[in-house]
Amino acid sequence: MATRLPKIPQLLARKIYKTGQTRGADDDEIFQNRVGRNSTVLIPYSQFQLYTELIENGFSFENGFIVLISPDEYFDMPNPDTSLKSQGLELGINAVLFYETRHQWNEYDPDDHSFTPAQSRFAPLKGQFVARVSATTAQENGAKIVAGFNTTTSKGAGIRVYEYASNETTNDCRLQLEAIVWLCKDADEVLEQNGMLAGEVVERKRVILDNASKGGLLDKQRLIDARIINEHGKTVCPLCLEEVSAAGFFNRMEQALGREVHDLTITQLNLFHIEELRFGEFNHRPYNLGWGHHHCNVVTKDSGIDSTLEWMRSVIQRNDTLLDQSD
Ligand SMILES: [Zn+2]
Repeated sequence: MATRLPKIPQLLARKIYKTGQTRGADDDEIFQNRVGRNSTVLIPYSQFQLYTELIENGFSFENGFIVLISPDEYFDMPNPDTSLKSQGLELGINAVLFYETRHQWNEYDPDDHSFTPAQSRFAPLKGQFVARVSATTAQENGAKIVAGFNTTTSKGAGIRVYEYASNETTNDCRLQLEAIVWLCKDADEVLEQNGMLAGEVVERKRVILDNASKGGLLDKQRLIDARIINEHGKTVCPLCLEEVSAAGFFNRMEQALGREVHDLTITQLNLFHIEELRFGEFNHRPYNLGWGHHHCNVVTKDSGIDSTLEWMRSVIQRNDTLLDQSD
């Protein structure tokens, strides 16, 4: 019988586990709050064509999809239901109207069309529309409008489609991300400082790197090319390429112990998507995830590494004279 794998410190375990969940969302949003990446995805109708070929070729989301159509788009179509049907869509089955503005609500009152609020993430959706309209004081009857997927048991209609990953992919990512933790220059000593015994460190590291290797998740060249590790095999921040310290996973703990941390926002490590998440791609996948400085992650987010570096170059160039003067 296999012996039980020694545990990594809870703070780190939690951090790795959470990479398999979507970002937070509050009640005013249509998204679910921190759920698995294989949950039902929401696809805006305007982006649906990016996924039609995939779906036609047999790809399926593990918990299905719901297309969100704005009432303006829907009522602008001469024969909306026929048009949708030709694309494999049907209100109440795999599509809903999504009311986001008061104008839409007043102009296309769901009652006039006998539409009811959707409540199920699986077909049939038990309704044809969802509404999330914020309150306004500028007019009478300006109260917030929330309809559909607003009960305790069914809060939020689904997740952002570009956050999607299958259960298997999510698990592969978690394994690879832990392997990358172990490739940090000071992983062994930091993990020991945070509660693991020396023998446990050796054992856990060996097993994780071994499993990642066997699963095809430890191709060094691919990790280097993706800016996740450097040519010495050490974990780096994907933007600034600095070798990172595993202590960056334990900032909270260091704070509690009153140790010196020169700048939390700079040393703290976060999940880093190399190719940014965007419509038409599934970028929560192995070889696209690393650990980077919180600060670098914030700067890179949404625009990607290449355009961030270009932007930085232009900032430096414009500041060249000033920087020379200060030398
Ligand atoms: Zn960095």
